[in-house]
Amino acid sequence: MSFADLGLIPELLNAVADAGYTEPTPIQRQAIPIVIAGHDVMGGAQTGTGKTAGFTLPLLQRLARHANTSTSPARHQTRALILAPTRELAMQVYESVKTYSRHLPLRATCIYGGVDMNAQIQELRRGIEIVIATPGRLLDHVQQKTINLTQVEMLVLDEADRMLDMGFIPDIRRILSLLPANRQSLLFSATFSEEIKKLADQMLKNPQMVEVARRNMVSETITHVVHPVSSGMKRNLLAHLLRHQPDTQALVFVDTKLVCGRLAHFLERHGISADSIHGDKSQQQRTETLEAFKAGKLRVLVATDVAARGLDIDELPYVINFELPHTAEDYVHRIGRTGRAGHKGNAVSLVCAEEKHWLSEIEKLIKLQIPQEVVPGFEPEPEFFEAGKGGRGRRSAADRTDRVEKTEGARERAPRATQPAAGGKRPPRPTIAPDGFDFSKPYEPATPVPVVDTTTSIAARPDEPPRRGQRPVAFLLGGLGRK
Ligand code: AMP
Repeated sequence: MSFADLGLIPELLNAVADAGYTEPTPIQRQAIPIVIAGHDVMGGAQTGTGKTAGFTLPLLQRLARHANTSTSPARHQTRALILAPTRELAMQVYESVKTYSRHLPLRATCIYGGVDMNAQIQELRRGIEIVIATPGRLLDHVQQKTINLTQVEMLVLDEADRMLDMGFIPDIRRILSLLPANRQSLLFSATFSEEIKKLADQMLKNPQMVEVARRNMVSETITHVVHPVSSGMKRNLLAHLLRHQPDTQALVFVDTKLVCGRLAHFLERHGISADSIHGDKSQQQRTETLEAFKAGKLRVLVATDVAARGLDIDELPYVINFELPHTAEDYVHRIGRTGRAGHKGNAVSLVCAEEKHWLSEIEKLIKLQIPQEVVPGFEPEPEFFEAGKGGRGRRSAADRTDRVEKTEGARERAPRATQPAAGGKRPPRPTIAPDGFDFSKPYEPATPVPVVDTTTSIAARPDEPPRRGQRPVAFLLGGLGRK
């Protein structure tokens, strides 16, 4: 099947050809005709499946009737709103919109927190048909009356499950209440929890379900391997593995901001070019680091889950879990950075006895027993191989570091949805969010933002948890040491 068979207009067919795509991916085959026909969609697809083009191409086709070259802002009302959980993902979607709309005179912009609002305000004043936004910053613009949502015809909620993880659902509900009821809505999520289904009920009208692969399944082009290793030897093993693959780049995942920076420094000290990306870094730092990695100037990018969300790096050959995620679904998200669009990928996990519990959760979710290979000289703790041991049991003095890092991890990870209490009953939904936000009150930005003040840099409302102090961890306690 070709893109032309999906009923796309010539402007879009040309853009797709320019991008070098020869045939649509399964999610594109399913979603494009349904969206062109004007239906709401509930899409089950993870990153790497081509879902961005799957919703962007038909969205552009639906909006093509508004395309015009007038300079008047009144001729460029906001017609589509695409919401993404992180700045990185929003930027990635924006790049896709620009790529696919290159032959159509439709305007798009990307607005996200953590940067000055004024440039965004100027851009919005020009008149913009397609706004890609993170929820918090969009609400800041609503508050400032610098965006008009009354003409929105299409809404896309991308990575809804991550929105939930990051505590954005109250913001999403507020945004929904500001949009015209008569609109087309698309919701994409890699997983469908009860919370997501509830949101979909509220947001979508008679949605058509499109889904690729089984839920939570991982790409078949990825080879998984676990290297059992003692926690104290992990960083040496990582350096060893990287030295044995001198020509490859790798994205290395850690659980916490603290480990993130320290591990990058450790690798640098051992002659492996590396940098880190996490929630405490400014947007500019993150963008520069990411660009350096994409340009091949950095071999290793060490990242936390929050910071890495939405990274789109073509043909990334290796994803390495320096620490296993504590939510099995995060494993699926992490390794979705490799094995994209049919390319081969490697998912390598360094697992100590302490993490065996998470490993079995992951294997249960992906329905795959991951092969284990001990690297000689980097053996795990003996309890790794003892049945029923190594869960959350005994800890050595050296592991005390780990405990501090886990605390930091809790800070990096945004508040999660309330888990059902023992006995299966959900506790009543709180009206005060873990970050202190009261959903029952009208929206107010965390920091008051002046409307136009070009001399002031405004940290209006970054879309991530606030920065906190980091405690140094002594090298002798197993910390990664300073540079
Ligand atoms: P996504 O799942 O939207 O993050 O897309 C993953 C990657 O696949 C991106 O780098 C896209 O540029 C690429 N891609 C999307 N659609 C196609 C296609 N039909 N053929 C080849 N590559 C594609």
